Amino acid sequence: MTDRSFTHLQARIRACTRCDALVRCRTQAVPGAGAIPATVAFVGIAPGRFGGDRTGTPFSGDRSGKLLREMIARAGLDRVFITNLVRCNPRDVQGRNRDPGADEIANCREHLRSELAIARPRIVACLGQIAWRELAGRASPFDPAHPEAVRIDGAILYPMYHPAYVNRGAYSVRRYRQDFRRLARLIDTLTGSLTVLPRLAMLGRQDTG
Ligand code: URA
Repeated sequence: MTDRSFTHLQARIRACTRCDALVRCRTQAVPGAGAIPATVAFVGIAPGRFGGDRTGTPFSGDRSGKLLREMIARAGLDRVFITNLVRCNPRDVQGRNRDPGADEIANCREHLRSELAIARPRIVACLGQIAWRELAGRASPFDPAHPEAVRIDGAILYPMYHPAYVNRGAYSVRRYRQDFRRLARLIDTLTGSLTVLPRLAMLGRQDTG
């Protein structure tokens, strides 16, 4: 049942023509992929020009995808779903990656909602400020080094840096690994206790390097 509804959703996303500009520059629309049901969903911005736009899978085939998937594996995260705010690669006039516009994010909101409704993750990890603002709202501070999770619509939103931010040297890989381990500990806590939600910012402060 779930598989069938996800297959339908993927087909709907691949056929989507809501954004004229994106339809013109994309190679393909890239639906989310991964475990259903999921424990954790990672939400990025949009498929990369050298990644999802070519491969058809979010965060695959490019440096961001390599780093994200390496972090997920090292932290031992299981039942992971990976998707984006926007399902088509946005390009500027020179053909380079650009951030999606507010209208493009709004046009894709329904696809994200439907994916998350099917994957039903306990935690939605927002990769970068753009994803965090869209899902958690502007009032919630984006501070992945001291994460304050936010609970919305039954899901727990969790801020993390985007792998591209780490790849360009703005944040260390060592600390990024620690952030993923902290996320893994939070997941363990949630899986162990469905009723008690700890203050998430208190978790995992004792970084072990
Ligand atoms: N690849 C994705 O799928 N999303 C991003 O945000 C960046 C690269």
